[in-house]
Amino acid sequence: MAHADSASGAAPVGGPAFAGDMSADVVVVGAGPAGASAAYHLAAQGLDVILAEKQELGRDKACGDGLTPSAVRELVRMGVDISDWRRNEGLRVIGGGRRLHIPWPEQVSLPSYGLARRRSDLDRDLAEHAANAGARLLTGVTVTGPVTNTAGRVVGVAARPTARFTYPGISSPTRLRAPVVIDAGGVSARLATAMGRDKNGRRPLGVAVRAYFRSPRAEDSWMESRLELWDGPANRSALLPGYGWVWSVGDGLVNVGLGSVSSHPAAARVDYRAVFARWLASAPASWGFTPDNQVGPLASSALPMAFNRKPHYADGLMLVGDAGGMVSPFNGEGIAQALMSGRLAAEAAAQAAARSTAAGRERALAQYPAALEAEMGGYYTLGRIFVALIEHPEVMRACIRYGLGRKRLMKLVSKLLSDGWERRGGDATDHLIQLLTRMVPAA
Ligand SMILES: Cc1cc2nc3c(=O)[nH]c(=O)nc-3n(C[C@H](O)[C@H](O)[C@H](O)COP(=O)(O)OP(=O)(O)OC[C@H]3O[C@@H](n4cnc5c(N)ncnc54)[C@H](O)[C@@H]3O)c2cc1C
Repeated sequence: MAHADSASGAAPVGGPAFAGDMSADVVVVGAGPAGASAAYHLAAQGLDVILAEKQELGRDKACGDGLTPSAVRELVRMGVDISDWRRNEGLRVIGGGRRLHIPWPEQVSLPSYGLARRRSDLDRDLAEHAANAGARLLTGVTVTGPVTNTAGRVVGVAARPTARFTYPGISSPTRLRAPVVIDAGGVSARLATAMGRDKNGRRPLGVAVRAYFRSPRAEDSWMESRLELWDGPANRSALLPGYGWVWSVGDGLVNVGLGSVSSHPAAARVDYRAVFARWLASAPASWGFTPDNQVGPLASSALPMAFNRKPHYADGLMLVGDAGGMVSPFNGEGIAQALMSGRLAAEAAAQAAARSTAAGRERALAQYPAALEAEMGGYYTLGRIFVALIEHPEVMRACIRYGLGRKRLMKLVSKLLSDGWERRGGDATDHLIQLLTRMVPAA
């Protein structure tokens, strides 16, 4: 299904061709986990795909670097070699004077371990994996907006190579043309925004900050989560609906951060740097969180949650990962969802490419939002209810005080919060979550 590059000035669609235009079956914008996953799965299914990324490989990204078992499952599906990545065996949850170890359970569809990998390494590995599968990876190429035809359908993107750009045979500016375009550009969602797909302000939004530290406890095999975050001095101020984490990422480093969530824009008004500084100061000295041990700056970003940008497919444009608001409102995790949505988008696009009529192609592409809703719709509706509850400090306080003492309840909570439940079969805990997600509408 390879398309020839249109350097010779083929029939223009959506405007005049530039000398260096390129075309493909699918253009994917952004080589984070969502874009790399989409590009890998598309290339593996024989499609010609361009993966355009504005930065160079190995770029930093504000993230906790934590990969739950559901992220591991997606990496295994992609055939990524994870054999020497840093594993962890579960969550150590601390709050209300208690400390609970919850191992990742061995499930039918999920492994009993998580991983942690610095995003500079993870994202480079995934982009190279997509390129090795056949995707045409263009780094240092900023996509500036969609290219549309007279019917308003996206038929490509306008792009501008950055100064350090070295891809041969393509000019600046250029157009990357394809019948299907995927916005994997993260929280900025430049293409989606340009097409009028704005954020839904009634969906939860999180904010998180993180920094790296050298630590004497960097070999810890548990992901530590601390549930008490105060917006001010402890016990004399609001208990935030969120948690702090310390996760070992290897090479003697830990990723330390915190995040909180709100069902309204108030989350963005908290001074997270101040909360982080106070929280670090209260952490056990054994972690070694001193200024001397900090490696690199504190970084922060918003967490777009619970499908806060829709539709996930319309007019030739698909949204995956953060661009489609796919971070979990339960725990702030977005990598597993980015990988999963990339896979689902690729499956629909590959089916569409094999159809012989425009109507057939649209039907196949519409399978993508339907598959997302089936997989996550009810779950994210529950997540929105969860956020609306825990943003009341008294509810959060009660959860910490009474919840952590109940082991069976915590097993359910851990599966629910980490998206670690079986969609089919499983044990009584899985059945309960399946029932709950079916009882609420996917909206
Ligand atoms: C502090 C913090 C901690 C977090 N911790 C975790 C965690 O531990 N585990 C977890 O699962 N999730 C975590 N998340 C969420 C996670 O980081 C995101 O959900 C995830 O990165 C989404 O992947 P993505 O591919 O959709 O977007 P991104 O990772 O943001 O990738 C988007 C890519 O698109 C590129 N791009 C953007 N615009 C353009 C353009 N116009 N042209 C070309 N390229 C473009 C960007 O350079 C980038 O490489 C955390 C988030 C934050 C802020």
